[in-house]
Amino acid sequence: MLKGKTALVTGSTSGIGLGIARALAAQGANVVVNGFGEAEVIAGIERELQAHGVATMYHGADMSKPPQIEDMVRAAESRFGRLDVLVNNAGIQHVAPIDEFPPERWDAVIAINLSSAFHAIRMALPKMKRADWGRIINIASVHGLVASVHKSAYVAAKHGIVGLTKVVALETATTGVTCNAICPGWVLTPLVQKQIDARAAAERLDSDAARRALLGEKQPSLDFVTPEQIGAMAAFLCSPAANQIRGTAYNMDGGWAAQ
Ligand code: NAD
Repeated sequence: MLKGKTALVTGSTSGIGLGIARALAAQGANVVVNGFGEAEVIAGIERELQAHGVATMYHGADMSKPPQIEDMVRAAESRFGRLDVLVNNAGIQHVAPIDEFPPERWDAVIAINLSSAFHAIRMALPKMKRADWGRIINIASVHGLVASVHKSAYVAAKHGIVGLTKVVALETATTGVTCNAICPGWVLTPLVQKQIDARAAAERLDSDAARRALLGEKQPSLDFVTPEQIGAMAAFLCSPAANQIRGTAYNMDGGWAAQ
């Protein structure tokens, strides 16, 4: 379905981004991998993606640094001649009550989880519009729709990216470019494992009990969403069936936001 097209997935060295990179490569897209990690691990990810018969490149742009984002988008366009799919996925978390929230962590969460998407979109959109085809997929969160305590920066950034998604969708509504957000609930990735470990330590639980407590509090299915499921949704949003899906915030959250 995506043969000959190029997808840039930010934060694709781990978790959800890696699941999306795999799903898009399986559809035939060349993939630009981004994110932190050891060179050997990243080379392994590229080899795995290339097994689908696609080309890959890695760019290590720090998504909190606009000039590096600009360089990555330009490098992708120059290597593949085009950038058709942009998945804004890179993200971090910091958990603390607002009156104890370190200002530098606030700035980092907003920069990586929200402003990076603005910069990548503004760089990539002109060529997508010229080609009259493009897909922009923002990985928001159920925290783009509802809040939880101690996550002020994350919830603000994720609500922000849902708003940004709607604006971009309206500004591209008469073109072949679409923009949508995916809003996952709990997905068992390193980002969430840190929260499970913190809970296990604070409540003196073993890892399994901490995991069950985390799910039981918010996610009615009592089961994690998987990176593969989110990858499949991203691939669907790239399909012709999704041509008129514009400006949505699609929750995949085991029923979290239905409560
Ligand atoms: P993860 O920690 O497994 O992966 C994060 C990725 O982002 C990694 O590749 C990392 O290297 C990259 N990254 C972090 N900071 C970066 C920076 N400054 N520059 C470039 N890359 C950077 O996390 P994940 O759970 O896969 O999260 C991916 C996205 O999904 C995030 O936006 C997160 O908010 C969102 N999300 C996660 C969950 C969940 O339950 N795990 C739920 C909803 C939304």
